[in-house]
Amino acid sequence: MASYDLVCEKCDHEFEVFRQGFLKDEDRVCPACGSEEVRQKFSSFLSNLGGRGVGAGCAPSGGSPFG
Ligand SMILES: [Zn+2]
Repeated sequence: MASYDLVCEKCDHEFEVFRQGFLKDEDRVCPACGSEEVRQKFSSFLSNLGGRGVGAGCAPSGGSPFG
């Protein structure tokens, strides 16, 4: 079981999803406003590398749900 930190692009609501395996599309929906414009938060050391540009191809260890 893995947990994913997600943040809504529309209302900045942050929430956590527990999922065995990768995230599914149904997980990427903001529980606050219903927007599907949700992005995954990465660890601070990763955000230093890519910022908001997720899915650029270089997956962290364990693979990326974007892709
Ligand atoms: Zn939202």
